[in-house]
Amino acid sequence: MTQGTIEPTEAETAALAHAITRASGIARDETDRAPIVAAILVDDEVIAWGDNEVHVENDPSRHAEIVAISRACAERGTPSLQGASIVTTLQPCEMCLGAIRMSGIARVIFAAGRPGLKDGYFAFPGLALEQFVEADPEGFGWAGHVMEADVMALYGKREG
Ligand SMILES: [Zn+2]
Repeated sequence: MTQGTIEPTEAETAALAHAITRASGIARDETDRAPIVAAILVDDEVIAWGDNEVHVENDPSRHAEIVAISRACAERGTPSLQGASIVTTLQPCEMCLGAIRMSGIARVIFAAGRPGLKDGYFAFPGLALEQFVEADPEGFGWAGHVMEADVMALYGKREG
């Protein structure tokens, strides 16, 4: 069941579905790469994709969201993504939420969300997404657990 403060648009949902397909492919084919995929949309058009490159680049900051933000900004020639959307297969971590806010992204849409995820995806397990929203109500709207059933095999804790 989708939760959050906004409803995803059709284009955001389609981009997220594409990201899930790509992440599932990475999980199947590239065992050294974390299967997490993000995209940036402006006016319902995808302008950049990003895969998690942490182990590819040996850089702990190369989360899929950071890669996508970086590419989108390079593409547009500006550090501002004011009003843009980000879709991502996994709930953004604290670092990525900071970068999302710094970039001006207005909408955050993700598939797998806490709780129920494997350990290690979040640097501050006691800090909830809702607290970021409370800390800046003008910041961003979010929709989470979108198509979550399609990604829990990738990120969920195994039952039992
Ligand atoms: Zn992150």
